[in-house]
Amino acid sequence: MILKIGTEGTVHSVVRHNDKYLCNFCMNEHLFGTYFHHGLQKEMTYCRVCLTHYATTENYISSEDIERQKELIKLNIPFELTDQQKRASQYIVDQFHKREESLLYAVTGAGKTEMMLQAVVEARSIGCNVLITAPRTDVVKELALRLNDYLPCTQIDVLYGGHYNITNSRLVIATVQQLTMYQQHFDLIIVDEIDAFPLNYDKRLNRLLKRALTADGTMIYLSATPPDRLLQLPHKYLPSRYHNRALPVPKLKYYRVTVKSLSHRLKSITDTTLIFFSNINQMEQLYDALDEAIKQNGTVVYSDDDERHDKVAHIRAGKYKFIFTTTILERGFTKEHLSVWVINSEQFSWDALVQIAGRVDRKGSERNGTVYYFHEGVSAQMNKAITTIKRMNRKHEDTLY
Ligand SMILES: [Zn+2]
Repeated sequence: MILKIGTEGTVHSVVRHNDKYLCNFCMNEHLFGTYFHHGLQKEMTYCRVCLTHYATTENYISSEDIERQKELIKLNIPFELTDQQKRASQYIVDQFHKREESLLYAVTGAGKTEMMLQAVVEARSIGCNVLITAPRTDVVKELALRLNDYLPCTQIDVLYGGHYNITNSRLVIATVQQLTMYQQHFDLIIVDEIDAFPLNYDKRLNRLLKRALTADGTMIYLSATPPDRLLQLPHKYLPSRYHNRALPVPKLKYYRVTVKSLSHRLKSITDTTLIFFSNINQMEQLYDALDEAIKQNGTVVYSDDDERHDKVAHIRAGKYKFIFTTTILERGFTKEHLSVWVINSEQFSWDALVQIAGRVDRKGSERNGTVYYFHEGVSAQMNKAITTIKRMNRKHEDTLY
């Protein structure tokens, strides 16, 4: 069902239970405003999360059922899947037919997008509505780009903040934040990056996700760094990257960052290098303090940056030698000949560190990009990240012999 807010309906958009309000549209329970409405001559409470839809205690939610329609999708994959990808693809198909909530635990660079295609094709062939979702806009954009290539004759609706392209809602790629209009609508939901911020802690987003699924629908999670609770689900572990090379093991280096030392390092860069900072202010100050001659080879990208989509496209096109960034490029970003540095890696969580290292050596011919965890003291989280990467590599080697 597709939900809409208007003057008619049976359920109020915002309702009050005891002392608490709930927005029935976006599932927010905490952020509301109240004011005196002069036209109605009474107090009105509105939801501050879905402001543009204007959910209030005075208007209603209506729902519309969209007729299920079968579709024969033609896949256009210009290469053969690896054996591991084929097995994983079959696993998702099987779990979908069994209607079993499951996890695909795949190392970064295993080629997860390709593994979900067959399930999408089968689900759509029997008229099921399909959603592919992720918590981050950048990941959703990357998925949409690739799926448009693989399914060139299929209408794919794409939804993320600032982008709204909805036609029939039968095959949708969307951020979880944009699922407010769906209730019991999707028979198959594939959640990429289930462990990523903000989905890993935001209860509202988890409620939106569950609400979007039909009563007998199937949820499949994909992750390279799943939290323990997801490992309780039926799952399949994929230890190899699609090109069968091991994950790069990060190098640790004690390093106190200063403008002078950083300038020196930046001059010697050969690969495109993503440089991760945990602190936006520190990142901007350091960048601003660089000489113009160095600066012109690089850029800064962070999550609230209005130009970030253009910048990411430029990075992909090879315009810059180095990119100062926060964790927005930690996932879903793929480019060949890439190295990464993490500045003050003791301030990062283990899963972010594993994801960041996983950006390297994903694409292109054999070439060893490097991963540096620069630090002012090794943290337990750094050790956990490195142990995890080494364990994954051992499991990968086991599959080779
Ligand atoms: Zn709301």
